[in-house]
Amino acid sequence: MCFLHGKSITLGCYSKEPVQHYPSKLLESAVNEFSRLPGVGRKTALRLVLHLLRQAPADVDRFGNSLMKLRSEVKYCTVCNNITDADVCAICKDTRRDAGLVMVVEDIRDVMAVENTGQYRGLYHILGGILNPMDGIGPEQLNIESLLSRVSSGEVREVIMALSTTMEGDTTVFYLFRKLSPFQLPVTTIARGIAIGGELEYADEVTLGRSILNRTPYENALARSQARNFIKLSW
Ligand SMILES: [Zn+2]
Repeated sequence: MCFLHGKSITLGCYSKEPVQHYPSKLLESAVNEFSRLPGVGRKTALRLVLHLLRQAPADVDRFGNSLMKLRSEVKYCTVCNNITDADVCAICKDTRRDAGLVMVVEDIRDVMAVENTGQYRGLYHILGGILNPMDGIGPEQLNIESLLSRVSSGEVREVIMALSTTMEGDTTVFYLFRKLSPFQLPVTTIARGIAIGGELEYADEVTLGRSILNRTPYENALARSQARNFIKLSW
């Protein structure tokens, strides 16, 4: 074991990052925690921690409290799995929205992106990911059962798929299409060719809004999809 970087000597320790000696265990601990965040290296983590140290204690308390409350108090909507402060999110609660339309998305960033277009007045269903056998994500890891029970309630007229155009996204759409087929309701996909799914948030609002309005029946896309063959191997 390389004592500098904690990596196996036999595999080779190739880390080019110099070993930092911190003057305080508390400082080192905070840097360790910040550097666990996505996209934050140890240099950035140190810069953020030193910035916090220069702030008034009350400001740092507020920062810490908001993080602690985020994890312990945030709730997931019992209807759509959106992040919310109440049992049911503001979107599901809004009676002016069309409860007959349910758009299936991967995560909350997609909801935020679609909401920014102002072009969609239906509801959402957040899967919490997409099927990915390589990463061990199967149907039971996603919010699929709750989607089926929503649809079985009879209020839903159309399910709109807005997942990524990757193989995993296509596989997930096909899997859901098959699961939804007993309910005999239209399943549509938002117009392809734009960045959707995990990248939905990067699509410009006009393009995304148009792709929602120009959605097409899923059967049309199915003929071109490779997902049918792929899914037989997986589920
Ligand atoms: Zn909701």
